[in-house]
Amino acid sequence: MYLKSLVLRGFKSFASATTLHFEPGITCVVGPNGSGKSNVVDALSWVMGEQGAKSLRGGKMEDVIFAGTSGRAPLGRAEVELTIDNADGALPIDYTEVTIKRTMFRNGGSDYQINGENARLLDVQELLSDSGIGREMHVIVGQGQLDSILQATPEGRRGFVEEAAGVLKHRKRREKAARK
Ligand code: ATP
Ligand code: MG
Repeated sequence: MYLKSLVLRGFKSFASATTLHFEPGITCVVGPNGSGKSNVVDALSWVMGEQGAKSLRGGKMEDVIFAGTSGRAPLGRAEVELTIDNADGALPIDYTEVTIKRTMFRNGGSDYQINGENARLLDVQELLSDSGIGREMHVIVGQGQLDSILQATPEGRRGFVEEAAGVLKHRKRREKAARK
């Protein structure tokens, strides 16, 4: 399973439809400051169901919709489509390719589709939940976070690994219980 492509329409700075194709393995997105690299990462989280405006570097959810520039009027909706190669059947669905689409209008909530069929957020979450990329399963290391990881003490670094592995909360609980 790997991410195959991402289409952005009206998402943040991507006013015109923009398609990114990915290959298996490591993908690098390069570009000048402010060109939209982090917006691509935000689009990935968003289409997988991210519900927090802060995690998307905005104040409110509708900040993901293209807000306009001096030469271009704001748009009324944002759309992102993520296509995942499922030839190995890692996702529990009978398709070798799965496209998840999320749409949001300025005046309303989000709509989801899975391979063209209307779906709920829960369906998207369930589809991804055992795949290693679902909610809280993928790890996005934000800009600036890298510095704190590189400069961390050995204990701090262990915390990052434990958090990524999902065991930090158990250790915290155990330590709390031991203090009582
Ligand atoms: P850097 O190298 O500095 O990290 P970057 O390539 O990661 O830059 P982004 O943060 O992805 O850049 O993009 C920032 C740009 O996106 C800004 O110019 C900002 O105005 C624009 N932007 C963000 N949200 C919207 C929006 N809703 N509508 C229009 N433009 C937006
Ligand atoms: Mg950035």
